[in-house]
Amino acid sequence: MAAKIIDGKQIAHDLRAEIRKDVDALKARGITPGLGVILVGDNPASKSYVTAKEKACEEIGILSDDNRIPATATQAELLALINRMNRDPRIHGILLQLPLPKHLNESEALLAIDPAKDIDGFHPVNVGRMVIGEKTYFPCTPHGVVKLLARIGAPVSGAHVVVVGRSNIVGKPVAIMLLQKAPDANATVTICHTGTRDMAFHTRQADILIVAAGRPNTITADMVKDQAIVIDVGVNRIEDASRKAGFRLVGDVDFEGVSRKASWITPVPGGVGPMTITMLLHNTVESARLAAG
Ligand code: NAP
Repeated sequence: MAAKIIDGKQIAHDLRAEIRKDVDALKARGITPGLGVILVGDNPASKSYVTAKEKACEEIGILSDDNRIPATATQAELLALINRMNRDPRIHGILLQLPLPKHLNESEALLAIDPAKDIDGFHPVNVGRMVIGEKTYFPCTPHGVVKLLARIGAPVSGAHVVVVGRSNIVGKPVAIMLLQKAPDANATVTICHTGTRDMAFHTRQADILIVAAGRPNTITADMVKDQAIVIDVGVNRIEDASRKAGFRLVGDVDFEGVSRKASWITPVPGGVGPMTITMLLHNTVESARLAAG
């Protein structure tokens, strides 16, 4: 039997409607949630991500303060801009689009963001809070994965979750979030990476398999347990002359093969992707709510 599709687009749409209600309630109290956006340089992928995030803000009534600065900007200029946003009470969240041009110091810039406005959840203070299970801003993509699992009613508590990938933005945080003794979590978690011996041995034991490797076909049907829930975070461009753009997007999982074995699976695109921006909106509104007391 074919797996059921986890419709990230629909789930994101429903969540955004809920967030919109929170925005309206804040506006009724005279508070408009504000997102300060910083884009350094003109990397085309970063530009399109920033544009998509700003459009999503506009659609649900979040004010976005757009700051596009040239690739030649100095570290001092970048820090001055971050500090201005830290002090600006109209800005509740600061989005520093990564990667930065090579001459700028990314970790120093992330550290300069006020943890209370760190809606990407990358500040070491917020990472630490997440690890020890305190309330904080969770990084958006892993948070989106946790929400998807909750929305389909996945039995996460007690499940064996296997995560493929240990990056600081996806693999590690999703593993930590699902490990916590908390609602929508409480799983037994294994993390695989390029140093893992016999990865298929581990992935075949997964009740829930989360894949964030950044490589097409990392997971094939023979590596998946019958009826597993499979979340594919990967986004890879594959040349495709039949498409106008000359490429199409695929995940890290062999969708066709694995969907014959899994119970649930996310498509790419339309699975995890739409959740990432949604969780950014969620964190910005949460920050505005906290600032409003
Ligand atoms: P990353 O920083 O490149 O990390 C990839 C991780 O996967 C690394 O830990 C690497 O192991 C591991 N890995 C790679 N190939 C592997 C293999 N064959 N076997 C086992 N482990 C392997 O990537 P990322 O930033 O986490 O992103 C992962 C994917 O998610 C990318 O395709 C990215 O585009 C996508 N993504 C999507 C969203 C979204 O909104 N949908 C957001 C963020 C990222 P080592 O540590 O040993 O090198």
